[in-house]
Amino acid sequence: MPDCVFCAIVDGELPSHTVHETDDALGFLDANPLAKGHTLVVPKDHHERLDDLPSETATGFYGAVHEVVPAVEAALDAPATTVAVNNGESAGQEVPHVHAHVVPRFPDDDAGPIHALFDDRPHRSAAEQSDLATVIAAEI
Ligand code: AMP
Repeated sequence: MPDCVFCAIVDGELPSHTVHETDDALGFLDANPLAKGHTLVVPKDHHERLDDLPSETATGFYGAVHEVVPAVEAALDAPATTVAVNNGESAGQEVPHVHAHVVPRFPDDDAGPIHALFDDRPHRSAAEQSDLATVIAAEI
């Protein structure tokens, strides 16, 4: 995809600090890391959002994430990672090429869980949750 920074990295037109490469995916260090060792994993093919990925690409992409996570934890001696996808502009996605963030986490890093993104949580009754689950399930 012209003008896509991650396609340019995949094609070798832009430099990256690559940590992992498979047939389907590439892992490289984030240029503006949230923490030391913050790594991105991208599918090699250009797709904007998770729901755009063909299932084989999704499988290869997640396979690479699955391999990168323990490697980042081992290399940084991190007891945990936050693994996150900003899936769409409204969720904060800035680069419109699917990517998973793998961020090393430590007990004293004060970054909090992803639950900290939301101050107010809607109260949902059991009946409302049941109806909603049915609606979502019908979309699959
Ligand atoms: P997002 O907001 O989820 O789209 O995150 C995009 C991420 O890509 C940010 O964390 C950026 O620091 C990172 N990024 C942007 N350009 C580059 C690049 N050329 N090499 C590595 N990481 C990049």
